[in-house]
Parts: sequence; C-alpha cells; structure tokens
Amino acid sequence: MAKKLYLVKEGEISLKGLNRGSFEKRLKNNIKDKLRPYHSTSQRQKGRIFLFVDEDCPDERIERALSTTFGVVGWAEAVMCEKDPDVIKARARALLEKMDLSGVKSFKVMAKREDKSFPVHSYDLTCALAEVVNTVAPGLRVDLRNPDLILHVEIRNQAFIYTSDSAGPRGLPTGSAGRGLLLLSGGIDSPVAAYEMAKRGLKLDCLYFHAYPYTSDEALEKVKTLAKTIAPYLNGTRLFVVPFTEGQLNIKARAFEDATTLMFRASMMQLASRVAGCQDMQCIVTGEALSQVASQTLAAMSFTDSMADLLVLRPLVGLDKEEIISKAKKIGTYETSILPYEDCCVIFSPKHPITNPDRKAMREHYQSLGMDEYITKALSETKIYSYNANGEETGVWDFTPPSDQA
Ligand code: ATP
Ligand code: MG
Repeated sequence: MAKKLYLVKEGEISLKGLNRGSFEKRLKNNIKDKLRPYHSTSQRQKGRIFLFVDEDCPDERIERALSTTFGVVGWAEAVMCEKDPDVIKARARALLEKMDLSGVKSFKVMAKREDKSFPVHSYDLTCALAEVVNTVAPGLRVDLRNPDLILHVEIRNQAFIYTSDSAGPRGLPTGSAGRGLLLLSGGIDSPVAAYEMAKRGLKLDCLYFHAYPYTSDEALEKVKTLAKTIAPYLNGTRLFVVPFTEGQLNIKARAFEDATTLMFRASMMQLASRVAGCQDMQCIVTGEALSQVASQTLAAMSFTDSMADLLVLRPLVGLDKEEIISKAKKIGTYETSILPYEDCCVIFSPKHPITNPDRKAMREHYQSLGMDEYITKALSETKIYSYNANGEETGVWDFTPPSDQA
C-alpha cells in the first residue's frame, strides 16, 4: 500500500551519547503503538525520524499520535524526492499548488543541507525555491521573522520538502526512565503529575483507593476516564482499583481524630510500596504541592515519605493551583477532574488535621492501628483495568499479589 510520509523532529534525544539508540528505538515504537492497526515503518537520520504510514490511516489519527508522544519536538507531513534541483523545484511547486494560500501574505524558505556533497549551496537553493513560491503565489513578501508560510527543504539521503510543522510535546520517550506508580485521585493534580513524569520518560501505572459506598461509583468512573485521558501520554497504562473502605473505617475507629488523614496517607504509601515492589516499579508519584493542604506541609510529607519503601516523586511540589489548572486544561483532564463526585468522603476528613506531625510519634501511632491485615485484604480484592496507548480500555482482571503478600 502507498504510504504517507511524516518527518518527526527529535530534541533532547539527539543530545544523548551512547544511549541515543535505545531512546530512539523507544520513541519509534511508542509512535508505532499508537498507529496500530495501520502499518508504519520508520527510518532514522540525524535528529529526524522519517515515518511512513499506510495511506488509509486517517490524518487525525497520526496527528493525535504525534502530538501525545513524548520525545517528539515537532512534525510535518513531507514529500520525498530525488536530490536534483529541478526535481526539488517541481515537487515544491506541486506541493504549494495543492495548498490553500488565500490567507497567506508572507513567506520564508528554510533550506538545510545535511549532505554537504549536494552541489547547490543552501543560500542558492533558498533563492531558487523563493522563485517557485513567487510563481505559484505572486506578490507574497519575504518575512524572515514571522512569516505566514515556511517552505522547508532538507537535503539528506533524499530531498525532503514540507511546509508547516506542528509542535510536539517534547520530553523523553515514555519508558526510557524506568517505571513508577502514580497515586491517581479524581482531583485536578494527580493527572498533571502523571503528565509531568511521563514527559521525563517514566512509564506509569495508576492506583486509586476507592472507599465505596462513601465514594460513589461515579467517582470511580471519573478516575477511569482520567486514566483513559492520560493513557496516550503514558503510552498505555493500567489502573489498580483498591477497595479500601474497611481500612479507612479502621483508621477512623482507632486513630486520633486529628491524625486520620496522615494515617490514611501512611497506609496509601505502604500499600503502594507493596504493589510497586512486585511490579518492578522504582518510585511512587503523587500530585502533592507544598502547603496545598494540611497533609502537604513539609513535616507531613516527610512523615508520609518515611512510610514508603521507595522514592516518592512529587513533580508539582513547587506549583500553585493556577499553574496546575492551566496544565490540566492543556492535557484535557480538567473538565473531568472538576466533575462534582468527591473522591474522599468528608466523614474521613478531620476538622483540625495535624500540620506539624512528630515523625516518630506518628510512626508509632500508625504501628498501633494494625493496618497490615487491611492492606493485605485490599490487595487481594484489587482489580486492574488496562488502557492501550490510544486510551481504549483493553481488559479488566483481578490483581494477584505475590504469595508472600497475600
Ligand atoms: P488531586 O491532588 O489529584 O487534585 P486531591 O486534591 O483530591 O486530588 P489531595 O488530597 O491533594 O488530593 O491528595 C494529594 C495526592 O494524593 C493526590 O494528588 C494523589 O496523588 C493522592 N491521592 C489522594 N487521594 C487519592 C485516592 N483516593 N487514590 C489514590 N491517590 C490519591
Ligand atoms: Mg491536591
């Protein structure tokens, strides 16, 4: 089948030394995953990936794939031709003639000669192509700073011509930095935390504590929608849904009232550490931000950190709510996050939560609550929903904790 060609620009990856090959391979695979079942092949050349996709793959599908894949800095549909100046001019002309140039008033040509043996210098090629633009659309002025149209030509093993390029999400390919477990609530912050860490290459699964019937089925549906929405950025993800009502009721019955939130957060860290430990994950990610709520003071976060068996990453720690909200809007999670279904019932929230806990005293208090059995039971009742790189649900099954945890 005939193929459409896309030129994909890499950014930070091209600066990687000996590891560059593995970053690039991951990037190519991450893109291909999103294009399935359509067939695609790719070739890599200095700072670029040339992606050939089945012609019947819808443009929107390709656009969605490239705009949600970390590691992509920019991309454009391109034309490839022989490195002959006359052929290049003819192909550029044909490309421009197919375009709607009605609103275009200014242009610029950008010629790049990676193959230095190509006999025509970049400047001369630029002039020749500017003439082509003038023939197709007489009267356009050259604007080097802010043109309406840019005609690019890159001379490599072949010549590549393209007119507009779109910005990609940048970052590093998801999966290149190891694996982590995101604590995903129905709120605004945690989906943004997922985006930020996936952007640095972390492969994430999500874990949600569900306290049915204190938190409703709608709250669970909301979290599933959030997992689906962020799945393309995470290149697919799994959502562990942990029924934790009994654990929370035990905390409410036995913990000091002002310490209940901290005790809940300590048990979240312990349970998440157990899941991460058996799933080859090296960190826990949360959407906490310094001083946002009582459990996010320095003292509170140092205590919860001390209850996790592995690194806890809080990518939003220095952001204020407005900054987080604008990111949530950009990645498309905000509208779901603000749906009214509470993910944490007021009955579990103390009126005057401790903001400056004594770590040793809190740890001792936690030990007295006997949370292990609740954690073990919750793990044995945990369900896993999986989502592919296009955000489609692909299955649901029971989590089987390793026998030493069951
Ligand atoms: P968000 O912070 O996502 O907007 P929130 O403000 O309701 O939600 P906080 O009370 O600020 O949540 O909790 C801080 C972090 O703890 C969340 O960002 C999330 O990582 C984690 N978290 C809170 N509740 C849950 C839950 N029910 N299941 C999983 N993780 C949770
Ligand atoms: Mg929050």
